[in-house]
Amino acid sequence: MNDADLVIRSNRVVTPKGTGPATLIVRGGVVVAVEPGATRAGSHGVDYGDAVVMPGLVDTHVHVNEPGRTEWEGFDSATRAAAAGGVTTIFDMPLNSVPPTTTVAALQAKAAAARGRSFVDVGFWGGVVPGNLAELAALHSRGVPGFKCFLVPSGVPEFGHVTEEDLRAALPEIARLGSVLLVHAEHPDWIGQPATGGERLYATYLATRPARAEDEAVALLARLCQETGARIHVVHLSSAGALGTIERARAEGLSLSAETCPHYLFFSAEEAPDGATEWKCAPPIRDAENRERLWEGLTTGAIAMVVSDHSPAPPEWKRRDTGDFLRAWGGISSLQLRLPAVWTGARARGHSPGRLSEWLAAAPARLAGLARKGSIAPGYDADFVVWRPEASFEVRPEDLYHRHKLTPYAGRTLDGVVEATYLAGEKIFESGRLHGPPRGKIRLESEASH
Ligand code: ZN
Repeated sequence: MNDADLVIRSNRVVTPKGTGPATLIVRGGVVVAVEPGATRAGSHGVDYGDAVVMPGLVDTHVHVNEPGRTEWEGFDSATRAAAAGGVTTIFDMPLNSVPPTTTVAALQAKAAAARGRSFVDVGFWGGVVPGNLAELAALHSRGVPGFKCFLVPSGVPEFGHVTEEDLRAALPEIARLGSVLLVHAEHPDWIGQPATGGERLYATYLATRPARAEDEAVALLARLCQETGARIHVVHLSSAGALGTIERARAEGLSLSAETCPHYLFFSAEEAPDGATEWKCAPPIRDAENRERLWEGLTTGAIAMVVSDHSPAPPEWKRRDTGDFLRAWGGISSLQLRLPAVWTGARARGHSPGRLSEWLAAAPARLAGLARKGSIAPGYDADFVVWRPEASFEVRPEDLYHRHKLTPYAGRTLDGVVEATYLAGEKIFESGRLHGPPRGKIRLESEASH
């Protein structure tokens, strides 16, 4: 194929048909052919040998925080981290930027902040907050594939949480638009008051956000799904106690889906050190037995995907100096580490790179309505991650591109080393180095049509 822009081959290419030797032919940023077998790469060719070539990862749960809280992260630093982690598309959550993405004007402000500064493709979720129902249709028409809401206080004053009554008003509109509602599913009635003292103990924080709060919220969402016919997606599921509800809803044909996050699959509450506020997130990391049941949920398909919920904050907000879990900002940074963090656990439990590709690329692409991402197949964008499943590395904060390096993964040894990342057929990362300039597309109305 002399007219190809790029030819990539490897002995382990992950496609919808399976994993094996293949040659990928790329033209105009798009995969034009997938030739099975050990075809020789031509003059444009790159041969990655036994490295796995997978679709570029899609992370649909990222808090970029720009504009308004750019000192927390930002499009430049977040998308550098994404590229280094094999992620080629991120979707930004509607909070904690200022303004939050609850109006068209705010969406335009976000797009302006991201444009020309993003190393990977960027899309945006909208928000459902009290009083913005009239904005949803306009946001939808401008390429927002779905809307996030909170059932409990979000942590920032400009993004209010909704009541069951608000949801009953919003869900018919979401259904009418063919959109999806993303829900932070903790029920306020079950959020507990902290005990006095012991604020440096993880257990003190954990007790304030019991599994019951999640389980009751997911039960409410299943009922609303049934009543309204709207699509509902539970973000960052931590309690395995809700899996039965999700399985029953799905068996009844309801559109209720769920994601979990790398930290719920990697860590357990028992190992959280005193004062280690980098472990704080909401809902919280639970015990090791719960973690195993989350892995079972992924295995059965009750949990569809694993996305990062990358939610950084400056060190002073994490209160690492005092180690006060109750005052610390909740949020774990792992945009760059999602692939190895999940692979380390997946490999130990006998899962294949093909399964990982479904959880980290294909399923999130479907959630965000990305018809040309998440798989390696003709007609799809030539977004790839090349990685070595048998290699391992120690997480060193200085190797992270996140603006703030505080992370519970520091010092941990993870399996799976990202060797290269390609976006639309262009190499954007290889062997520890980013390749600029920022080439990411901003997904708004016109771009979102493909
Ligand atoms: Zn989040």
